[in-house]
Amino acid sequence: MNCAEVYRWLQAYLDSSVTAEQERAVEAHIRACVFCRRKLVEMARAVNALERTGDIPPRAEFTRRLYEALKREGIPLEEPSCPAERAPTRSPRGRGRG
Ligand SMILES: [Zn+2]
Repeated sequence: MNCAEVYRWLQAYLDSSVTAEQERAVEAHIRACVFCRRKLVEMARAVNALERTGDIPPRAEFTRRLYEALKREGIPLEEPSCPAERAPTRSPRGRGRG
């Protein structure tokens, strides 16, 4: 299963249903892939926001369940941010020395 497929399953679950086998495949990928974890975090946040309004489709439970499971296991859901990347690197542009 590749990243594109995982995205589809996460979203597809909100519309239709995925099989238990597909769920497991997604979980396995999410554990290994930081990019899909970040996607999951985005979706789980959206789901949590919807839940507050009480206007949530029951199937969104899948995304949230996956998110909660990874959180419990202590798997970092978001890519650790690199301090060097966060600081904007300002290189002097334009007029140089003469
Ligand atoms: Zn991935």
